[in-house]
Parts: sequence; C-alpha cells; structure tokens
Amino acid sequence: MRGFAFRGDRQIALLTKPTPVCGPREVLVRVRATAVCGSDLHYYRQSAQERRAAADFYCGHEPVGVVAAVGADVRTVSLGDRVVVYHVGGCGHCSACDGGRFKDCPQAQQHVMQRSRDGANAEFVVVHERQALPLPDSVSFEAGAVLACSFGTAWAAVKQTSAPPSSLAVWGLGPVGLNTVVIANLMGLRTVGIDLSGERREAAAELGCEVVDGSEPELTDILLDRTDGAGFNTVIETTGATAVHHQAATVTHRGGTIVLVGLGANSSIGPTREIILRELCVRGSWIFGVRDWPDILDFVLRNDIDLMRTVDRVTSIEHFRDAMSDADQGSMAKIVFSWPPNGLPDSLSHDPMTSRTTEPPNINLRSS
Ligand SMILES: [Zn+2]
Ligand SMILES: [Zn+2]
Repeated sequence: MRGFAFRGDRQIALLTKPTPVCGPREVLVRVRATAVCGSDLHYYRQSAQERRAAADFYCGHEPVGVVAAVGADVRTVSLGDRVVVYHVGGCGHCSACDGGRFKDCPQAQQHVMQRSRDGANAEFVVVHERQALPLPDSVSFEAGAVLACSFGTAWAAVKQTSAPPSSLAVWGLGPVGLNTVVIANLMGLRTVGIDLSGERREAAAELGCEVVDGSEPELTDILLDRTDGAGFNTVIETTGATAVHHQAATVTHRGGTIVLVGLGANSSIGPTREIILRELCVRGSWIFGVRDWPDILDFVLRNDIDLMRTVDRVTSIEHFRDAMSDADQGSMAKIVFSWPPNGLPDSLSHDPMTSRTTEPPNINLRSS
C-alpha cells in the first residue's frame, strides 16, 4: 500500500509498504477521506532531525473509510462497514483497551497515529476494532473526517466545563475553535471568539459568534467589557500560546474554568498567582472518548449540523503536497481530502520535490 510521510523540512515522500495483516480484534480500513489538522502542520514543519524517529510513519490522524478485512475475534464491526477511525490506540490487552477507553491505557502515547505508528494518509490503516467507529450512511466520508478530530475534540472540550457556561470565550478560531462555536451555539451559550486572523474571525461571525481581534492592545479590557467586567465563566483555549494563558486567566470569572486544548511547543501553565488568588479551575482536554461517539452522532444528527461549514477546501488526495503547502502558508481552517475507492492513482510521483504543475481542482466551501 502507498501513503504519504512527512520527512522533515516540509518534504513529503510517497512510500510503499506491505498492506498490514489484521491481528486478533484488528480491522483493516480502506481510507476514503482524511483531513489536515494543526498538529499535522506542526509535524510537517519539523526539521529532518526532529522527524528522524517518525519519518517513515505515514502522516495524518483523521481517517475515514470502509472496513476491508477483519481479524479473528472481531465482534463490533463487519466487512463493508463505513467507519471513522479513532487515532489513539493502546496496548490492546489491558482492561482500558478492551472497553475502548484508549486514553486510559498506560501505553496510549505509544499508539498515537503518525507520532508513534502509521497514520491516516495511506491507502489502508489497521486498528483495534474499537477504534473503528460506525459512520451512518447519511454522513459523507468527508464530513466524517471533521468528526474524527476537530468536532470530536471541540465536543470533549465543551464537555470538560463543569457546568453549562453562561458565558464562554473561545480562544483560537481554527478547526477546533470553530466547531466549539457550533456546539456552543446549539447549546444556547453566549460565545465570544478571539483570533488574530481576520478570515477566521469572519468565519466564526458567520457561525453566529461575537468576535474580537486577538491583537487588540487593550484586549483583556475589551473582553471584560463584554461581560460587564465580571469575566467569562469558561474559557476554552485552543492556541497553546503561553501569552494567551495569561490573558485567559485575566478574563475568566473568579472561580471559573479554563479548558486547555491547544498543545503548543512551549506551553506553560500560568500565571500561577492569578489562578490561585482567583481560584480558577484549569483543566486539560485531549480528544473525545470512544464511548462519547453515540452521543456525538446523536447531537450532530438531531441538530442537523452541517459539518462542512468549518471546512475551507475539499480536494483529491492526489493534491496532498500542494494542499499542505497552501495550509502551511495560509490561514486556512480545514482541508479535507477525498480518496478514490481503489487507492492512489499509479501516476502519482514518488519524488518529494515535485512541484505544482496545474492548479488543483477544489471546492472552496466558504465562498460558495
Ligand atoms: Zn486532528
Ligand atoms: Zn491498553
């Protein structure tokens, strides 16, 4: 099977490996859609030295597809099922893995797609059966890729707030931030979104969110004014920037909650003094749990959510290199790739230096 790998310094290689064989309780999924996430860009931008240990893993972590083979003792999925693949696995043997609570597996960090094993941007992925989450026929593969991470991560972050927040600030309006806005709106919450990018603020405003420019010199005063000086009950922080942690603490209501979602390279938790004196609750939120899946699907279907509203571009996986380059340079929120039913075309070049020759056909969803 073939797939793409980040080699460091923005180089992408097309690698060929043997198609994996399913072990007990494993399923092989033929990939039909994937998407680009902030963490993918982080790995794409790493130096060759930083990528050394992971340069041979297929990249990406948001795969959706069809079950093409099943191993022994598989009970929860069948051949031909449409599935969203949960990108965090585990040892496969402990009680947490057995119940699909992969985040609780002591070895979870050794089983994260593209970081410590092959990832999404390949013709096939092989995973534990409980990582294959059923996708209804009414949800497209491409929309499934939004559920796989951006929407699911936003869902988990909103769930981390201890009580329904009457006022919510969402810091960072990328894919996770925008989906947080969608969920919060449907929950009837008043939401203020903050971002440096005008395009992203515009997208959030279209979703019904009040927006504030994150570069405003008097930003914290402006945000406090929005809550009559009281501060927000909850702040969901998706940027991972230490400077934002400080600003977030200042604008959170006394006793309120800050949910940290953004995993920045140099993140630190602070400022300690404000957190202690104002008795703030700081919580981390990684990804949704497999057991949340039925509730997530129910929420999406019951509210008839258009998951593609937070997607900027849908394009064929053939244009992966060019799309990554665009994502790297622009402020694009989300790019989703469609995969042909029979895998990558034979004509695709293995040369990582191949540059764009024609403008890739794509659907710009935002402006349509
Ligand atoms: Zn993601
Ligand atoms: Zn385990």
